[in-house]
Amino acid sequence: MSGGTRGIGFAAARRFIDEGSRVFVTGRHADDLETALASLDGADGCVCDVSDPAQVIAAVAAAEKYTGGLSVVANNAGISQRDAFLDIDIDDWDRIIAVNLRGMFLVAQTVARLLRDNSRQGSIVNMASTNGFGGEEDYAHYNASKGGVVQLTRSMAVELGTYGIRVNAVCPGYIQTPLNEGIAAGLDGDFVERYARERIPLGRVGTPEEVAAAYAFLASDEASFIHGAMLVIDGGQLAVM
Ligand code: NAP
Repeated sequence: MSGGTRGIGFAAARRFIDEGSRVFVTGRHADDLETALASLDGADGCVCDVSDPAQVIAAVAAAEKYTGGLSVVANNAGISQRDAFLDIDIDDWDRIIAVNLRGMFLVAQTVARLLRDNSRQGSIVNMASTNGFGGEEDYAHYNASKGGVVQLTRSMAVELGTYGIRVNAVCPGYIQTPLNEGIAAGLDGDFVERYARERIPLGRVGTPEEVAAAYAFLASDEASFIHGAMLVIDGGQLAVM
């Protein structure tokens, strides 16, 4: 589980533990990792920035050791921020692409090589987003990174199926997490309620547990013939014309 110290990743770690898995979580901050692990009985973890190849290789090796043989990855870590296209700073562009796209690639490639080298089947679930399909205003950098994850996932599915490695992506819409709480804090007080009412047919935003359920499904044998799929979890938002 990359990015498992809070939000969707934390909920997914808890879900996998509840299902009896040995879970290894990562995040960039040691304090947050320690806090998360304190309430994740049956998990271990290490500090890892997914955009750094050496840290990813070390984290995957540690996860392989702790789990006794890694077979599922929730490739979850990601960041976002709100900027009008005309105001995007090049450093922010590079940072978002480095974490959301380069990081996704590095984790996926390192795990896929490990599985291939051990002739082991497995399931990789990448974190895309509804923003990989539509161009939400003020998120051009984030939209581009998630559109890249959609195509990365399809490309991996095409090449890795032959090794028995299934690859899919979860594509959440608006989920109530610390990431979105941080962004919403800078907007109108009723932003979330208005957004849900005006844009989401189910009339509410999603929970991290609802995305965790999708991760668990795609990783499980129940999804044994699902490969190269984008599972949208958005309360119907993408269905709106
Ligand atoms: P969050 O609450 O901010 O949690 C993000 C997690 O990723 C944290 O554990 C964070 O820990 C970790 N992380 C961030 N940058 C990292 C890096 N460079 N290396 C390793 N770990 C890193 O965010 P969230 O809302 O749960 O989002 C999780 C994923 O879902 C992201 O990929 C996001 O794009 C995607 N998503 C979210 C929504 C939504 O509405 N919330 C919708 C669609 C997709 P540290 O900060 O300590 O590194």
